[in-house]
Amino acid sequence: MIGLVPIGDTDISLLESLRAPLEEIFGQKSRIADKIPLPKESWHRDRKQYFASSILAVLPSPSLSADGVLGVVDVDLFAQGLNFVFGQADVTGRRAVISLYRLRQEFYGLPHDEDIFRQRALKEAVHELGHTYGLGHCPNPACVMHFSNTLSDTDLKGWKFCSVCKRRMEV
Ligand SMILES: [Zn+2]
Ligand SMILES: [Zn+2]
Repeated sequence: MIGLVPIGDTDISLLESLRAPLEEIFGQKSRIADKIPLPKESWHRDRKQYFASSILAVLPSPSLSADGVLGVVDVDLFAQGLNFVFGQADVTGRRAVISLYRLRQEFYGLPHDEDIFRQRALKEAVHELGHTYGLGHCPNPACVMHFSNTLSDTDLKGWKFCSVCKRRMEV
């Protein structure tokens, strides 16, 4: 079971749209958990961003060892030493968080495109959940586990695992 957790002001319909493809790719059922508030301690007043690790810390732990939990926020996230992150995973805790904040075309001054937005969200979701299932970064730029430094890396890659990552997932 994959648990999807809306955090703060996150659109539930986006989470709904992630369910079917996530179930297909991980071969598990999914459910949307109750919304939880953004933890106050994650807000960094000077940066005007939220600290990803503080958000990971308040996510519920998966109940079974095979489970993964994905939190979804619609605020800007940062991590130690990075200006921003699209997402972050707590590999040992099998929890991950993604941010929708920088995935919309309008963030870059372009007209809204719902399809592109949902595709990016799915890629980030599969990528961070892939980490919680033990996968590292993949050198194949078409693989969903390829590291996205910028959004154009995200747009270049697919939402599926390459054959090498797929085999690693199955062991
Ligand atoms: Zn990664
Ligand atoms: Zn791969």
